[in-house]
Amino acid sequence: MVVDARRCRPMNKVDLQKASECSTGGSVIYWMSRDQRAQDNWALLKAQELALERKASLHVCFCLVPKFLDATMRHFDFMLRGLAETAKELQGLSIGFDLLKGKSVEEVPKFVKRLQQLGKKGPVHAVVCDMSPLRVPKEWVAGVSSALQKMSVPVIQVDAHNVVPVWEASDKQEVGARTLRPKIMNRLKEFLTAFPPLRKHPRPPLGSSGKGCFDLQAALKSLQVDRKVGPVSEALFKPGSKAGQERLKDFMQKRLKIFGKLRNNPNQQALSGLSPWIKFGQISAHRCALAVQQAGKGDAKQSAADFIEEAVVRRELSDNFCWHNPHYDSIKGAAGWAAETLKKHSKDKREYVYTRSMLEQAQTHDELWNASQRQLVSEGKMHGFLRMYWAKKILEWSKSPEQALADAIYLNDRFSLDGRDPNGYVGCMWSICGVHDMGWAERKVFGKIRYMNYAGCMRKFKVQEFEQRYPGSSKGQAVQEEAGAQKTSPKSSLQKAKGRSSQKKLKGRAKARPAKRVQTGKRKANADREAPSKRQRQ
Ligand SMILES: Cc1cc2nc3c(=O)[nH]c(=O)nc-3n(C[C@H](O)[C@H](O)[C@H](O)COP(=O)(O)OP(=O)(O)OC[C@H]3O[C@@H](n4cnc5c(N)ncnc54)[C@H](O)[C@@H]3O)c2cc1C
Repeated sequence: MVVDARRCRPMNKVDLQKASECSTGGSVIYWMSRDQRAQDNWALLKAQELALERKASLHVCFCLVPKFLDATMRHFDFMLRGLAETAKELQGLSIGFDLLKGKSVEEVPKFVKRLQQLGKKGPVHAVVCDMSPLRVPKEWVAGVSSALQKMSVPVIQVDAHNVVPVWEASDKQEVGARTLRPKIMNRLKEFLTAFPPLRKHPRPPLGSSGKGCFDLQAALKSLQVDRKVGPVSEALFKPGSKAGQERLKDFMQKRLKIFGKLRNNPNQQALSGLSPWIKFGQISAHRCALAVQQAGKGDAKQSAADFIEEAVVRRELSDNFCWHNPHYDSIKGAAGWAAETLKKHSKDKREYVYTRSMLEQAQTHDELWNASQRQLVSEGKMHGFLRMYWAKKILEWSKSPEQALADAIYLNDRFSLDGRDPNGYVGCMWSICGVHDMGWAERKVFGKIRYMNYAGCMRKFKVQEFEQRYPGSSKGQAVQEEAGAQKTSPKSSLQKAKGRSSQKKLKGRAKARPAKRVQTGKRKANADREAPSKRQRQ
């Protein structure tokens, strides 16, 4: 068996063995959705395994919806260019590729019917699909599985995105990384295994599937999406599996060694930058973990361990949360203590209140926040450390926590190439709703949600250097006042922080100090202390 059976689960009541009893030939279909690559894809390997056993042809289909939530041209362009490359690679391996247009619940069964007719005596033995823990793709899989049940076609789901399949890692929503970590790390030996290559398929695809692959320009034209947010420069993020592999190689050669020490410094190039490729499944996180594990020797050992923590433990924690919590993008999904504290402080007076449009246009009083927003808009991705600061400030400056969460998710999903991903929902929920975190010293607006401030950033990296890299026009402040941003104190906390921090710097004592965890409720919060950042997270 090529693919570990624990990665697979049946999605309808049609028995896989019975479905193809006494018949060979025909086809097996991989309905590709989250994992848009040819190699290193357990779902496609499973489909090939089934096809080889049944002497069947192998087909891949992808269902393109002309409009997907608020996805923009930036996302569709990256995705379709990546798919065009995948389609070509599959064609070279005698595997069919069809880009279907419309709703999967209608189009996948139609495609099955078409292959049933083409297969003459050979049936469609099975449809294999990949796994996403998000609401809409879960509904797609449920819809297609029940439609195919009526056609007596079995549907098998394979988790091709996680190293330890989401249903194997845990059967419940985990409290945080500390509870999921041992469940993942103790099973890496079993699951972080080498991928077999996808083979050239011995039987050609049926009919004309994949012959001309698909017309990329026509597909891009057919979309009904917001074209105002366009593709980012290929020098930053070039779509496709090949470019993803190159980015991985580049990371291992140039940045892995410094990843451990410098990944929280937005002025340094220490991160992998792999998230857009991982999000679209153009590269497998499993492949990245294998490569980094092998390269992580000597002075790269700690960095390799830190990368595994992010790319495997934290990433799979996000899938765990979304898989088990239907409210993964709403305050309803927060833990009791967090929902309670946010409610208690929802009417606290805000020093500043910004509208979604002011946030979108980087028109706040905080130049670090504006610079981060500009990085997101212009480059399609914000530095990981700043994402936390960015989202926490949205909580601080929004009229309610509900509005803050909605705006953070909206902006992240709209501009970030890696948005619309479990990591994005969990990142926003961690920052604003305390998900996977614990209660900290109680303070205004945040309640017990972990706080971050400008002074804390100044202690960690050269904030001005970052601000200067993403300069804006000076009209920010004017627009902010014109549009009614409330400023209730004569001296903002930001100005105070800047003053305090430069004083501290002069005295040479600029050191980050962690906030104390609230244990009894008796401890008084120190209003200007910041909770420890990501590295000290649970
Ligand atoms: C408010 C907020 C929003 C976020 N939105 C997204 C998002 O939309 N998409 C997204 O992929 N990540 C998101 N993250 C998580 C994290 O910031 C990004 O994964 C990271 O910045 C991606 O850059 P990189 O690939 O260079 O990361 P690296 O540090 O090089 O990490 C390698 C990989 O590990 C995973 N990873 C890293 N950090 C985290 C984390 N904290 N949680 C889960 N997985 C992680 C990612 O897949 C990443 O590509 C968000 C975090 C916050 C606080």
